[in-house]
Amino acid sequence: MDSCIFCKIITKEITAHIIYEDKDSLAFLDIKPHSKGHTVVIPKKHAVTPFDLDEKSFQELLLDVKKTMERLRDVLYPDGFNVGWNQNTAAGQIVPHLHVHIFPRYNGDGGGSMHSIIKNPGKMNVDAVARLFDKKKK
Ligand code: 5GP
Ligand code: ZN
Repeated sequence: MDSCIFCKIITKEITAHIIYEDKDSLAFLDIKPHSKGHTVVIPKKHAVTPFDLDEKSFQELLLDVKKTMERLRDVLYPDGFNVGWNQNTAAGQIVPHLHVHIFPRYNGDGGGSMHSIIKNPGKMNVDAVARLFDKKKK
């Protein structure tokens, strides 16, 4: 995909501070970090979401997320991590190339947990939501 900014980082047309790379994935420091060492890990195959990626490539990506976390641990000594991705604009995705955010966390850094992303469970209670799954068996 010509216009994809992350594909251009893969081909090195755009520079980035790369902290991990192998044949499947690339991990580089986010240009606007939300914590010290905020990193994004991307598959080298262009995909917008995991639903566009074959199973093996997604497995490799997740393994490379772990390897990148180990690299961050060994260099920055964080006290914890939040890890995840924004999927589609509803969830805040801006760059349309799948990227897993790794936020190294430090005691007393003032940030919240994953739970602080959204607090809007809607009107259905948990039992009602569970019944939707019963109705639509695989
Ligand atoms: P999204 O909201 O799509 O999940 O996040 C995209 C992330 O990519 C943002 O955190 C943003 O700062 C980062 N980003 C966007 N363009 C560039 C770039 O050219 N270089 C780097 N290193 N990070 C970028
Ligand atoms: Zn791309």
